[in-house]
Amino acid sequence: MKLNLDSQATKFLLSYLRKHTTSITLGMLVLIAVDTIQLIIPKIIQQTLDTLSNTSFSTSIILKKSLIIIALAASTIVLRFLWRLFIIRPSRKIETQLREDMFEHLEQLSPSYFNKSKTGDLMALFINDLNSIRMACGMALIGLVDALFLSTMSLLFMFTISVKLTLLTIIPLPAIIFLMIRTGKMIQNRHIRVQQSFDAISSHAQESISGIRLVKSFHQERHEINRFRQLCDTYVSSNISLVKIWGLLFPSITLLGSLALGFLIYFGGKQVILQQISIGQFVSFTFYINLLIWPMIATGWVFNMFQRGLASTRRVLELMNTKPQIAIKNSGENFSPLKGNIQFNSLSFRYNEQSPPVLSDINLVIPAGSSLGIIGKAGSGKTTLVSLLFHLYPVGHNQITIDGHDINDIPLSLLRSSIAFVPQDSSLFSDSIRENISFGLNDNIAQEAIENAARKASIHKDILNFSQAYSTRIGERGITLSGGQKQRLAIARALLLDSPILILDDALSAVDSATEREIRTALTHEIRKKTSLIIAHRISTVKDCDKIIVLADGKISEQGSHEQLLSAGGFYARLYELQKTGEPVS
Ligand code: ADP
Repeated sequence: MKLNLDSQATKFLLSYLRKHTTSITLGMLVLIAVDTIQLIIPKIIQQTLDTLSNTSFSTSIILKKSLIIIALAASTIVLRFLWRLFIIRPSRKIETQLREDMFEHLEQLSPSYFNKSKTGDLMALFINDLNSIRMACGMALIGLVDALFLSTMSLLFMFTISVKLTLLTIIPLPAIIFLMIRTGKMIQNRHIRVQQSFDAISSHAQESISGIRLVKSFHQERHEINRFRQLCDTYVSSNISLVKIWGLLFPSITLLGSLALGFLIYFGGKQVILQQISIGQFVSFTFYINLLIWPMIATGWVFNMFQRGLASTRRVLELMNTKPQIAIKNSGENFSPLKGNIQFNSLSFRYNEQSPPVLSDINLVIPAGSSLGIIGKAGSGKTTLVSLLFHLYPVGHNQITIDGHDINDIPLSLLRSSIAFVPQDSSLFSDSIRENISFGLNDNIAQEAIENAARKASIHKDILNFSQAYSTRIGERGITLSGGQKQRLAIARALLLDSPILILDDALSAVDSATEREIRTALTHEIRKKTSLIIAHRISTVKDCDKIIVLADGKISEQGSHEQLLSAGGFYARLYELQKTGEPVS
């Protein structure tokens, strides 16, 4: 299973890498050129030293050799710059492309996916996992090629000098690989702990800031500060535990490297005395041993980086393999515009197979241009009923029809652009008021149209009182606006859309009775033009609707006009009496 997932993840990653084959191959070639220069320099030093021990040397030869070394070293500056460019740039591009693809895919997913997923986890996917993938596609690839080429060539050069000396001096080196692989898992775990503690700090900061009103009203500032301190302390301690392991690892590697050098001095020195190798060869051997230590370190490092990259790719793939519950059909070009004739036919719905039904046997006809008021206690299924009209969740065959079309056959883009919706919790963006009202419409929407919508929603005057009127930027989630202003802004946004269906989900709950009356009067004309579904707690909001239903435990318990429901003497009539006497409504 894991192997299958790994091969899927590798295939997925390769599909992104393939687009940059030329650049990566060029980068690898330049990298090999730099390595070759690194390998040639000890040879030149060897030749120079051997020339020096020869009595017939001339200063011009030494000058030539030193100039060659300087020229080679200078050329590596250009070459190193080039391989970074050729390899790091594609890895950044792959990261960006993946991020864009993931975001596009995420936007298509159904609400049920977001109900299950934590925002923090999704953020980690977009930041940490993509970071690991970028490292695997960039630095790990470089490390792999670099380590393979340098170690093979260094060993080859060493063997050409002395097979026996090579075998004797490299004895401590495999221990470096062993150490790197053994500590790799520990480093990785500690690294994950650092990352998790950092994520905890950022989510806590985000939640505390966005919920600052709640924090202040419950006088929880001290508690929040203490919790933040705790999280910062955990971050520091997890970082220190990571530093400790590196602190032990590096000296150990240096020790093993020194051990190899010690062996070289002893055995190599003896070979020089016995004139089995020259002084030049002895010195160049020292260089090659040093060149060999880095690939030993890199092997473990590359191995871990690939593993992390692969694990991250698996998580990304999991997201990319998640299918939206509702498939997006054709663009709707061949579908005639919807008029808004809505029909619910024995509609039953549950959020998932384990949960109880939220709606049962709903039968309802809402003719185009008419209005339906929906009343019911909290949790009775009002929001669920209207969200099914958007086809946010799967709906059974023909259980909802619009203009006679099964909702399953209506292209999603057409369906959703035919409905203007004002949700219970009006979401606003940290942008200008103008942008917030015209959300979802093209940029060149006339200011006049925006102002008209704002007037109908009774928010125009409030906006003019803001420091920069329509250009005023509102804080994150509309933090600078009152609850009522947010709702009215959301109504203005919905009215700006020229859609045949209008849904208000308890959209007037946060405004006072006088403002509610004002908005209702302004909306009368709009409501008459469209098929309107109005969920409300106040009877006054729905009493003029053509038809009103009362939902109780997911079923229609009462239906009729205001007068019919009053004379029926049920929940609606009782609620009306309570509201008349000013009692709070459940
Ligand atoms: P209302 O709008 O009348 O307050 P809702 O339609 O919001 O009622 O909720 C009806 C029932 O469905 C409640 O019991 C609620 O807990 C449940 N519910 C609402 N949304 C979800 C969801 N996304 N997943 C599972 N259950 C849900």
